[in-house]
Order: sequence, then C-alpha cells, then structure tokens
Amino acid sequence: MVLDVSRALKQPGIPFELDAVQAIAPQEVFADEVAFDPARLRGTYTVMDHGNILLRGTLTTTAHGHCANCLEPAQAEIREDFEELFLLGGDPENNEIFAYTGQEIDLERLALSTAMLGLPIRLLCREDCDRLPACEEEREQVSLCQKELPGQRPFAALKQLLAEKAGEGTD
Ligand SMILES: [Zn+2]
Repeated sequence: MVLDVSRALKQPGIPFELDAVQAIAPQEVFADEVAFDPARLRGTYTVMDHGNILLRGTLTTTAHGHCANCLEPAQAEIREDFEELFLLGGDPENNEIFAYTGQEIDLERLALSTAMLGLPIRLLCREDCDRLPACEEEREQVSLCQKELPGQRPFAALKQLLAEKAGEGTD
C-alpha cells in the first residue's frame, strides 16, 4: 500500500502514526515457496532534514512454507522491527536505499525486506520435529532438528552489508 505523507510534510520533526497493512508476494527461500499473510506495520513516520522521512516500527505477519525436516506444511510468526530512512527523490531502482517522490511512500519493499529479516532460517512444523520425509525415513535415521543456533538468521549478514554500503554514500 501507499502511505500518504502530505500532512507530515507540513510538520517536519513531528512523528505521525503509522498503521498500515501491506501484502507481500510469495518468495522462494531455499527451494521452498514461502507465502506471507498481509503484514501489519505499526510505528511512526517523521519528516527529517531535506524532506527525507524516517519510518520506524514493528512488522508482524505469518509465513507459510514447509517443514525443513518432514516437508509437511509449516508456518512461523514473524515480529520484526524496522527503521529506515526514505530519501526524497532517491533513485527508486537503487535497491540499497529506500526512496520516495511526491507525497507518497510505497511500503511494499520495506515490508518484504523486513519480513525476510524476521524469517527463521528453517521452518519447522513444530519445535521438536524430528521426522524425516516419508520417502527418506528408511535411508536416514539422524534428526536434523536441533542443530540450528537460536537467533541464526540468513539475512542478518545481508542487512549489515547494506547498512555498511549505505554509510558510504548513496551515489
Ligand atoms: Zn516437521
């Protein structure tokens, strides 16, 4: 969805309430197709220097995919904070920045990137799933379930990389 920021633009520095619902397209993640419920973004948006707008808050959604062990349907609740500066007049094709023009901010890419950051590295149908896919049960006996470290997430490194690049300038 598109956020109308016209009121905030008249009152720089004042936080306005952000409460939006944004659809997220299904994503291919490690050969699984992960679908998302419409994401809710709650927080604030504030016009900063040079007309840039800071959005900060929390995204919540549910991801639907398949269990990394037994391949049965699995889902994960996602709750992930975001804090992004949307640059006025920035290049919308540049994926290293968020940008907007006029008086509207498109929330689609923010919702997608935040949801991906909050996605567990492996979906499990239940926390202690140790089942193997039916076709592999006889071949393998080893549970893969508990090898993952808590808090390990595939896109944290990417986010850090993007943050470092953003710090180098946005030409
Ligand atoms: Zn499972």
